[in-house]
Amino acid sequence: MSWEENVRRVVPYVPGEQPKQKGIIKLNTNENPYPPAPGVERRLKEIDYSALRLYPDTDAGVLAEELAAYYNLKPSQIFVGVGSDDVISMAFLTFFHSDKPVLFPDITYSFYDVWADLYRIPYKLCPLDGDFRIKTEDYRQENGGIIFPNPNAPTGVLESVDMVEEILKANPEVVVIVDEAYIDFGGESCLPLLSRYENLLVVQTFSKSRSMAGMRIGFAMGNEKLIRYLNDVKFSFNSYTMNLPAQLLGAEAVRDKDYFVKTCGKIMETREWVKGELRKLGFHFPDSQANFLFAAHKTMSGKEIFAALRERGIYVRHWDKPRIKDYLRITIGTREEMDKLLEALTEIVTK
Ligand code: PMP
Repeated sequence: MSWEENVRRVVPYVPGEQPKQKGIIKLNTNENPYPPAPGVERRLKEIDYSALRLYPDTDAGVLAEELAAYYNLKPSQIFVGVGSDDVISMAFLTFFHSDKPVLFPDITYSFYDVWADLYRIPYKLCPLDGDFRIKTEDYRQENGGIIFPNPNAPTGVLESVDMVEEILKANPEVVVIVDEAYIDFGGESCLPLLSRYENLLVVQTFSKSRSMAGMRIGFAMGNEKLIRYLNDVKFSFNSYTMNLPAQLLGAEAVRDKDYFVKTCGKIMETREWVKGELRKLGFHFPDSQANFLFAAHKTMSGKEIFAALRERGIYVRHWDKPRIKDYLRITIGTREEMDKLLEALTEIVTK
Protein backbone atom coordinates (compact mmCIF):
# COMPACT_ATOMS: atom_id res chain seq x y z
CA MET A 1 0.00 0.00 0.00
CA SER A 2 1.25 3.46 -0.83
CA TRP A 3 0.85 6.56 1.33
CA GLU A 4 -0.93 8.07 -1.64
CA GLU A 5 -3.97 5.89 -0.99
CA ASN A 6 -4.54 7.91 2.17
CA VAL A 7 -4.42 11.25 0.43
CA ARG A 8 -7.64 13.27 0.29
CA ARG A 9 -7.71 13.91 -3.40
CA VAL A 10 -9.57 16.91 -4.68
CA VAL A 11 -9.94 18.72 -7.95
CA PRO A 12 -9.34 22.31 -6.86
CA TYR A 13 -11.22 25.43 -7.84
CA VAL A 14 -9.45 27.44 -10.53
CA PRO A 15 -9.57 31.17 -9.80
CA GLY A 16 -9.34 33.77 -12.57
CA GLU A 17 -5.83 34.76 -13.58
CA GLN A 18 -4.03 37.52 -11.69
CA PRO A 19 -1.55 38.59 -14.38
CA LYS A 20 1.51 40.42 -13.11
CA GLN A 21 2.36 42.59 -16.11
CA LYS A 22 1.50 46.28 -16.05
CA GLY A 23 -0.83 48.04 -18.45
CA ILE A 24 -3.33 45.25 -18.93
CA ILE A 25 -7.07 45.73 -18.56
CA LYS A 26 -8.31 43.28 -15.98
CA LEU A 27 -11.97 42.41 -16.37
CA ASN A 28 -11.78 38.77 -15.34
CA THR A 29 -12.45 38.48 -11.59
CA ASN A 30 -15.24 40.98 -10.92
CA GLU A 31 -13.10 43.30 -8.84
CA ASN A 32 -14.25 46.87 -8.35
CA PRO A 33 -12.36 49.41 -10.51
CA TYR A 34 -12.62 52.10 -7.82
CA PRO A 35 -10.52 52.26 -4.64
CA PRO A 36 -12.05 51.54 -1.21
CA ALA A 37 -13.75 54.39 0.69
CA PRO A 38 -11.35 57.24 1.61
CA GLY A 39 -11.80 56.52 5.34
CA VAL A 40 -10.19 53.11 4.76
CA GLU A 41 -6.96 54.76 3.61
CA ARG A 42 -6.94 57.10 6.62
CA ARG A 43 -7.56 54.24 9.04
CA LEU A 44 -4.87 52.12 7.37
CA LYS A 45 -2.29 54.83 8.10
CA GLU A 46 -3.40 55.03 11.73
CA ILE A 47 -3.18 51.33 12.57
CA ASP A 48 -1.07 50.86 15.68
CA TYR A 49 1.52 48.47 14.35
CA SER A 50 2.48 47.23 17.82
CA ALA A 51 -1.08 45.89 18.14
CA LEU A 52 -0.13 43.30 15.51
CA ARG A 53 1.79 41.58 18.32
CA LEU A 54 -1.51 40.35 19.70
CA TYR A 55 -3.99 37.85 18.32
CA PRO A 56 -7.01 39.55 16.79
CA ASP A 57 -10.51 39.47 18.26
CA THR A 58 -11.91 36.04 17.40
CA ASP A 59 -15.39 37.47 16.84
CA ALA A 60 -14.26 40.51 14.82
CA GLY A 61 -16.48 42.53 17.17
CA VAL A 62 -15.88 45.98 15.61
CA LEU A 63 -16.77 44.72 12.18
CA ALA A 64 -19.75 42.62 13.27
CA GLU A 65 -21.15 45.61 15.18
CA GLU A 66 -20.77 47.95 12.24
CA LEU A 67 -22.43 45.46 9.89
CA ALA A 68 -25.22 44.78 12.38
CA ALA A 69 -25.96 48.50 12.64
CA TYR A 70 -25.91 48.89 8.85
CA TYR A 71 -28.23 45.95 8.17
CA ASN A 72 -30.44 46.44 11.23
CA LEU A 73 -29.50 43.15 12.85
CA LYS A 74 -27.86 42.08 16.12
CA PRO A 75 -24.09 41.46 16.12
CA SER A 76 -24.91 37.88 17.15
CA GLN A 77 -26.62 37.46 13.76
CA ILE A 78 -23.40 38.14 11.87
CA PHE A 79 -20.58 35.74 11.06
CA VAL A 80 -17.46 37.13 9.40
CA GLY A 81 -14.74 35.32 7.52
CA VAL A 82 -11.79 35.62 5.18
CA GLY A 83 -13.78 36.46 2.07
CA SER A 84 -17.16 34.90 1.40
CA ASP A 85 -15.29 31.83 0.12
CA ASP A 86 -14.24 31.15 3.71
CA VAL A 87 -17.76 31.86 4.99
CA ILE A 88 -19.48 29.62 2.41
CA SER A 89 -16.95 26.85 2.91
CA MET A 90 -17.70 26.91 6.67
CA ALA A 91 -21.43 26.96 5.90
CA PHE A 92 -21.10 23.85 3.68
CA LEU A 93 -19.27 22.05 6.47
CA THR A 94 -21.77 23.16 9.11
CA PHE A 95 -25.15 22.89 7.42
CA PHE A 96 -24.80 20.35 4.64
CA HIS A 97 -24.47 17.18 6.67
CA SER A 98 -27.06 14.84 5.19
CA ASP A 99 -27.12 11.77 2.96
CA LYS A 100 -29.53 13.60 0.70
CA PRO A 101 -28.05 15.76 -2.07
CA VAL A 102 -27.48 19.47 -1.74
CA LEU A 103 -29.10 21.30 -4.65
CA PHE A 104 -27.62 24.11 -6.74
CA PRO A 105 -27.90 25.30 -10.37
CA ASP A 106 -25.91 23.60 -13.13
CA ILE A 107 -24.51 26.95 -14.21
CA THR A 108 -23.31 28.73 -11.11
CA TYR A 109 -20.30 29.67 -8.98
CA SER A 110 -17.83 26.90 -9.77
CA PHE A 111 -16.61 26.66 -6.18
CA TYR A 112 -19.82 24.98 -4.91
CA ASP A 113 -19.11 21.55 -6.38
CA VAL A 114 -15.48 21.81 -5.24
CA TRP A 115 -16.50 22.28 -1.58
CA ALA A 116 -19.10 19.54 -1.89
CA ASP A 117 -16.43 17.15 -3.20
CA LEU A 118 -13.88 18.26 -0.62
CA TYR A 119 -16.29 17.60 2.27
CA ARG A 120 -17.81 14.51 0.59
CA ILE A 121 -21.26 16.09 0.46
CA PRO A 122 -23.59 14.57 -2.14
CA TYR A 123 -25.05 17.13 -4.54
CA LYS A 124 -27.37 17.40 -7.50
CA LEU A 125 -27.30 20.05 -10.21
CA CYS A 126 -30.60 21.69 -11.15
CA PRO A 127 -30.48 22.87 -14.78
CA LEU A 128 -31.32 26.52 -15.38
CA ASP A 129 -33.86 27.09 -18.14
CA GLY A 130 -32.95 28.41 -21.62
CA ASP A 131 -32.89 31.99 -20.31
CA PHE A 132 -30.58 31.00 -17.43
CA ARG A 133 -33.43 31.28 -14.90
CA ILE A 134 -33.83 29.08 -11.84
CA LYS A 135 -36.78 26.68 -12.12
CA THR A 136 -38.34 26.70 -8.65
CA GLU A 137 -39.99 23.31 -9.17
CA ASP A 138 -36.50 21.73 -9.17
CA TYR A 139 -36.16 22.79 -5.55
CA ARG A 140 -39.22 20.81 -4.46
CA GLN A 141 -37.42 17.47 -4.40
CA GLU A 142 -35.87 15.83 -1.35
CA ASN A 143 -32.57 17.45 -0.52
CA GLY A 144 -29.94 18.04 2.16
CA GLY A 145 -29.67 21.79 1.63
CA ILE A 146 -29.80 24.46 -1.06
CA ILE A 147 -27.40 27.14 -2.24
CA PHE A 148 -27.52 29.59 -5.14
CA PRO A 149 -26.11 33.03 -5.84
CA ASN A 150 -28.53 35.90 -6.43
CA PRO A 151 -27.77 37.48 -8.84
CA ASN A 152 -26.40 34.24 -10.21
CA ALA A 153 -22.78 34.01 -11.36
CA PRO A 154 -21.52 33.90 -14.06
CA THR A 155 -24.85 34.82 -15.70
CA GLY A 156 -25.70 38.00 -13.72
CA VAL A 157 -29.37 37.00 -13.70
CA LEU A 158 -31.31 38.33 -10.71
CA GLU A 159 -34.22 36.42 -9.20
CA SER A 160 -36.92 38.11 -7.13
CA VAL A 161 -37.26 38.00 -3.35
CA ASP A 162 -40.61 36.26 -3.96
CA MET A 163 -38.83 33.46 -5.78
CA VAL A 164 -36.36 33.07 -2.91
CA GLU A 165 -39.31 32.92 -0.53
CA GLU A 166 -41.03 30.28 -2.64
CA ILE A 167 -37.93 28.08 -2.30
CA LEU A 168 -37.76 28.75 1.45
CA LYS A 169 -41.44 27.87 1.90
CA ALA A 170 -40.93 24.55 0.15
CA ASN A 171 -37.82 23.70 2.20
CA PRO A 172 -38.33 24.31 5.93
CA GLU A 173 -36.25 21.25 6.84
CA VAL A 174 -32.93 22.30 5.35
CA VAL A 175 -30.68 25.35 5.39
CA VAL A 176 -31.03 27.57 2.32
CA ILE A 177 -27.96 29.71 1.58
CA VAL A 178 -28.40 32.73 -0.69
CA ASP A 179 -25.01 33.96 -1.91
CA GLU A 180 -25.51 37.69 -2.45
CA ALA A 181 -21.95 38.48 -3.60
CA TYR A 182 -23.35 40.78 -6.31
CA ILE A 183 -26.59 42.04 -4.75
CA ASP A 184 -25.48 45.66 -4.34
CA PHE A 185 -25.45 46.37 -8.08
CA GLY A 186 -29.19 46.80 -8.44
CA GLY A 187 -30.68 43.70 -6.82
CA GLU A 188 -33.06 43.48 -3.89
CA SER A 189 -31.60 41.57 -0.96
CA CYS A 190 -33.62 38.80 0.67
CA LEU A 191 -32.47 39.98 4.13
CA PRO A 192 -36.03 41.00 5.13
CA LEU A 193 -36.93 37.29 4.98
CA LEU A 194 -34.54 36.53 7.85
CA SER A 195 -37.13 37.41 10.47
CA ARG A 196 -39.54 34.82 9.06
CA TYR A 197 -37.26 31.95 8.00
CA GLU A 198 -34.87 30.62 10.60
CA ASN A 199 -33.24 28.33 8.01
CA LEU A 200 -32.08 31.18 5.74
CA LEU A 201 -28.43 32.21 5.60
CA VAL A 202 -27.53 35.26 3.50
CA VAL A 203 -23.87 35.65 2.49
CA GLN A 204 -22.26 38.85 1.22
CA THR A 205 -18.73 40.09 0.55
CA PHE A 206 -16.51 43.18 0.60
CA SER A 207 -14.72 42.00 -2.56
CA LYS A 208 -17.06 43.54 -5.12
CA SER A 209 -19.31 46.41 -4.05
CA ARG A 210 -16.97 47.56 -1.27
CA SER A 211 -13.79 47.44 -3.39
CA MET A 212 -11.81 45.34 -0.91
CA ALA A 213 -11.05 42.01 -2.60
CA GLY A 214 -7.46 42.30 -1.38
CA MET A 215 -8.52 42.49 2.27
CA ARG A 216 -10.52 39.23 2.11
CA ILE A 217 -13.70 40.01 4.04
CA GLY A 218 -16.98 38.14 3.73
CA PHE A 219 -19.93 37.75 6.07
CA ALA A 220 -23.07 35.75 6.66
CA MET A 221 -26.31 36.94 8.21
CA GLY A 222 -28.88 34.68 9.79
CA ASN A 223 -30.70 33.99 13.02
CA GLU A 224 -28.61 33.63 16.16
CA LYS A 225 -28.90 29.86 16.30
CA LEU A 226 -27.54 29.43 12.76
CA ILE A 227 -24.67 31.77 13.51
CA ARG A 228 -23.84 29.88 16.72
CA TYR A 229 -23.61 26.61 14.77
CA LEU A 230 -21.35 28.27 12.22
CA ASN A 231 -19.11 29.59 14.98
CA ASP A 232 -18.85 26.15 16.59
CA VAL A 233 -17.44 24.78 13.35
CA LYS A 234 -15.18 27.77 12.79
CA PHE A 235 -13.75 27.47 16.31
CA SER A 236 -13.08 23.80 15.62
CA PHE A 237 -11.01 24.81 12.65
CA ASN A 238 -9.19 28.08 13.24
CA SER A 239 -10.38 30.62 15.79
CA TYR A 240 -8.36 33.54 14.44
CA THR A 241 -9.45 33.66 10.85
CA MET A 242 -9.75 37.37 10.33
CA ASN A 243 -6.69 39.56 10.90
CA LEU A 244 -6.78 42.85 12.79
CA PRO A 245 -6.32 45.24 9.83
CA ALA A 246 -9.15 43.51 7.96
CA GLN A 247 -11.47 43.97 10.96
CA LEU A 248 -10.62 47.66 11.40
CA LEU A 249 -10.64 48.57 7.71
CA GLY A 250 -13.77 46.60 6.99
CA ALA A 251 -15.61 48.48 9.74
CA GLU A 252 -14.37 51.76 8.28
CA ALA A 253 -15.67 50.87 4.81
CA VAL A 254 -19.16 50.16 6.18
CA ARG A 255 -19.26 53.60 7.85
CA ASP A 256 -19.11 55.42 4.50
CA LYS A 257 -22.51 54.70 3.02
CA ASP A 258 -22.40 57.64 0.59
CA TYR A 259 -19.23 56.43 -1.09
CA PHE A 260 -20.62 52.89 -1.31
CA VAL A 261 -23.86 54.04 -2.93
CA LYS A 262 -21.99 56.37 -5.29
CA THR A 263 -19.46 53.81 -6.58
CA CYS A 264 -22.10 51.09 -7.01
CA GLY A 265 -24.18 53.65 -8.93
CA LYS A 266 -21.27 54.46 -11.24
CA ILE A 267 -20.74 50.78 -12.02
CA MET A 268 -24.44 50.26 -12.75
CA GLU A 269 -24.47 53.29 -15.03
CA THR A 270 -21.42 52.02 -16.94
CA ARG A 271 -23.01 48.56 -17.15
CA GLU A 272 -26.19 49.87 -18.72
CA TRP A 273 -24.20 51.86 -21.29
CA VAL A 274 -22.00 48.82 -22.13
CA LYS A 275 -25.14 46.69 -22.62
CA GLY A 276 -26.24 49.00 -25.45
CA GLU A 277 -22.81 49.12 -27.06
CA LEU A 278 -22.35 45.33 -26.95
CA ARG A 279 -25.75 44.82 -28.58
CA LYS A 280 -24.70 47.08 -31.45
CA LEU A 281 -21.68 44.80 -31.98
CA GLY A 282 -23.86 41.69 -32.27
CA PHE A 283 -23.55 40.39 -28.71
CA HIS A 284 -26.45 38.99 -26.72
CA PHE A 285 -26.62 38.36 -23.00
CA PRO A 286 -29.04 37.75 -20.16
CA ASP A 287 -29.97 41.02 -18.47
CA SER A 288 -27.29 41.26 -15.77
CA GLN A 289 -27.90 43.01 -12.47
CA ALA A 290 -24.33 42.36 -11.30
CA ASN A 291 -20.98 44.09 -11.91
CA PHE A 292 -20.34 41.92 -14.96
CA LEU A 293 -22.01 40.86 -18.21
CA PHE A 294 -22.22 37.35 -19.60
CA ALA A 295 -22.13 37.88 -23.34
CA ALA A 296 -21.97 35.75 -26.48
CA HIS A 297 -21.50 36.90 -30.06
CA LYS A 298 -23.88 35.95 -32.88
CA THR A 299 -21.13 34.54 -35.10
CA MET A 300 -17.75 34.34 -33.35
CA SER A 301 -16.95 31.71 -30.73
CA GLY A 302 -16.24 32.62 -27.12
CA LYS A 303 -12.85 30.97 -27.28
CA GLU A 304 -11.78 33.03 -30.28
CA ILE A 305 -12.86 36.35 -28.81
CA PHE A 306 -11.29 35.47 -25.46
CA ALA A 307 -7.94 34.75 -27.12
CA ALA A 308 -8.07 37.87 -29.32
CA LEU A 309 -8.80 40.07 -26.29
CA ARG A 310 -6.01 38.47 -24.32
CA GLU A 311 -3.56 39.20 -27.13
CA ARG A 312 -4.54 42.84 -26.78
CA GLY A 313 -3.92 42.76 -23.01
CA ILE A 314 -7.60 42.60 -22.06
CA TYR A 315 -8.47 39.78 -19.66
CA VAL A 316 -12.03 38.48 -19.37
CA ARG A 317 -13.26 35.08 -18.15
CA HIS A 318 -14.17 32.12 -20.34
CA TRP A 319 -15.21 28.57 -19.43
CA ASP A 320 -14.85 25.78 -21.93
CA LYS A 321 -17.98 24.07 -20.61
CA PRO A 322 -21.18 22.86 -22.27
CA ARG A 323 -23.96 25.46 -22.49
CA ILE A 324 -21.66 28.39 -21.72
CA LYS A 325 -18.61 27.93 -23.93
CA ASP A 326 -19.64 30.76 -26.25
CA TYR A 327 -20.04 33.24 -23.42
CA LEU A 328 -17.51 35.62 -21.94
CA ARG A 329 -17.90 37.01 -18.46
CA ILE A 330 -16.84 40.61 -18.61
CA THR A 331 -16.39 42.61 -15.41
CA ILE A 332 -17.61 46.20 -15.54
CA GLY A 333 -14.56 48.44 -15.10
CA THR A 334 -14.21 52.19 -15.41
CA ARG A 335 -15.73 54.00 -18.36
CA GLU A 336 -12.24 54.31 -19.89
CA GLU A 337 -11.51 50.60 -19.52
CA MET A 338 -14.84 49.74 -21.13
CA ASP A 339 -14.12 52.15 -23.97
CA LYS A 340 -10.92 50.24 -24.68
CA LEU A 341 -12.72 46.93 -24.44
CA LEU A 342 -15.36 48.06 -26.93
CA GLU A 343 -12.72 49.39 -29.28
CA ALA A 344 -10.93 46.04 -29.21
CA LEU A 345 -14.18 44.10 -29.66
CA THR A 346 -15.14 46.26 -32.63
CA GLU A 347 -11.83 45.38 -34.25
CA ILE A 348 -12.18 41.68 -33.43
CA VAL A 349 -15.77 41.07 -34.56
CA THR A 350 -15.75 43.29 -37.65
CA LYS A 351 -12.35 42.19 -39.05
N1 PMP B 1 -19.73 33.91 -4.44
C1 PMP B 1 -19.73 34.21 -5.73
C2 PMP B 1 -20.97 33.98 -6.52
C3 PMP B 1 -18.58 34.74 -6.35
O1 PMP B 1 -18.57 35.02 -7.66
C4 PMP B 1 -17.43 34.98 -5.56
C5 PMP B 1 -16.20 35.58 -6.20
N2 PMP B 1 -15.32 34.68 -6.76
C6 PMP B 1 -17.47 34.62 -4.21
C7 PMP B 1 -18.64 34.11 -3.67
C8 PMP B 1 -16.28 34.74 -3.32
O2 PMP B 1 -15.81 36.02 -3.15
P1 PMP B 1 -14.89 36.44 -1.95
O3 PMP B 1 -14.29 35.19 -1.33
O4 PMP B 1 -13.88 37.33 -2.54
O5 PMP B 1 -15.80 37.13 -0.97
